[in-house]
Amino acid sequence: MSDCLFCKIASGEIDTEFLYEDEHVVAFRDIQPQAPVHVLIIPRRHIATLLDAEDSDTEILGRLLQAAQRIARELELDQRGFRLVSNCLEEAGQSVLHLHVHLLGGRAMRWPPG
Ligand code: 5GP
Ligand code: ZN
Repeated sequence: MSDCLFCKIASGEIDTEFLYEDEHVVAFRDIQPQAPVHVLIIPRRHIATLLDAEDSDTEILGRLLQAAQRIARELELDQRGFRLVSNCLEEAGQSVLHLHVHLLGGRAMRWPPG
């Protein structure tokens, strides 16, 4: 989608350093980090929300989590732990309508989330 911020990041139109990229997925640091490590993992293809993912997106959905595992290891969070969050629509606080998983780590997390 031409006016989607994360599509522009994924395509390279907005210059962003990727911590991870493959055919289906890219990952980059959140501009407003909520923890010492705050990475966003997104599909290259525009999928607005999790509700818009289709059966044919199974591989992409799996790759989002596999990328999270890999980045967590690379950033040495695999001993201390980390949190994955994906906000879906307004009540959850989704502000960018391009599916993304937040990888948060480097500090103790509370539960339940706000
Ligand atoms: P959401 O609120 O939709 O769950 O998450 C969107 C995230 O995107 C927010 O944490 C916000 O800080 C981040 N974000 C918004 N604009 C930009 C940007 O231009 N670059 C980067 N790297 N992150 C952004
Ligand atoms: Zn998009």
